[in-house]
Amino acid sequence: MNLQQTYITKNDCYQAGRTITPKGIMVHSTATPGVMAPSWYSRWNRADLAVAVHAFVDDTVVCQHLPWNHRAWHCADSGNNTHIAFEMCEPTDWKTNQTYFTACYQNAVELTAYLCRLYSLNENHVISHKEGYQKGIASNHGDPEHWWTHFGYTMDMFRADVKRKLADKPITVTPVILPQTVQQGDSGDAVTSLQKRLNHMQIALALAFNPLTVDGIFGAKTREAVRAFQTARKLSVDGIAGPKTWAALGYNYGDVNADGKVNAADALNVLQAVVGKRTFDASQQQTADMDADGKVGAQDANLILRRTVNKQ
Ligand SMILES: [Zn+2]
Repeated sequence: MNLQQTYITKNDCYQAGRTITPKGIMVHSTATPGVMAPSWYSRWNRADLAVAVHAFVDDTVVCQHLPWNHRAWHCADSGNNTHIAFEMCEPTDWKTNQTYFTACYQNAVELTAYLCRLYSLNENHVISHKEGYQKGIASNHGDPEHWWTHFGYTMDMFRADVKRKLADKPITVTPVILPQTVQQGDSGDAVTSLQKRLNHMQIALALAFNPLTVDGIFGAKTREAVRAFQTARKLSVDGIAGPKTWAALGYNYGDVNADGKVNAADALNVLQAVVGKRTFDASQQQTADMDADGKVGAQDANLILRRTVNKQ
């Protein structure tokens, strides 16, 4: 495991210096496609940011941002007082990149086993952010399962791999790509994640449909929601969630600085890009292009100022 310590000393969580006695480990993933572990340091080493995790993990490196027993702020609830947290970074092609998934997952298993040894924990003390919500100690997010589900992976499989690692047994990661395109009449996990994502987009992009019941069944209402999203993103409007629609659903529109919020700071970033004081990578450009006109302009900053939405 390639562990690099780069403490975010300006961040409020580091400055506060509150410590915890780790009772468990919470696994997250960023839902920010294309932003790898080393890129988060400059994003989060800021005095005005009270959000932090202990580490970011990608396919090559583990970047530790806080001492493991510092209290982080990663799940907006009591889990912050008990759990060490790390974020797995998602690649641009997060639904299909098996090679990346395998390497990142292996690093996550290794880090988790390392932390278990450090604090006398075992695989049963490991939960996801999603499971934290189900236990009532974390905010309502679906990570990292929303990502892993595309490769047929679950937290139970992760815990089993951590257990093997703790016993010094080798682990084998075999991600499979699940069917991508879903349409009316389909049901299952892919439809569930589609509905969740559409509900997120309904708020983020002020789409004209009522929030969907997340039941994993692709009916007429889900089709209309897909059409509304496709219209807003200027995709071909067919009501079918194919690769292009899924890719467009992968962005947290408006959250340009990837701090989990859409606010004036994001609008400012956009305006800086407009006047050439800031350069956006491809992922940030997509995220900033609120009106889907293919370029980042002042109008996008305007639209961002009208939105307040939390990361999913
Ligand atoms: Zn999370």
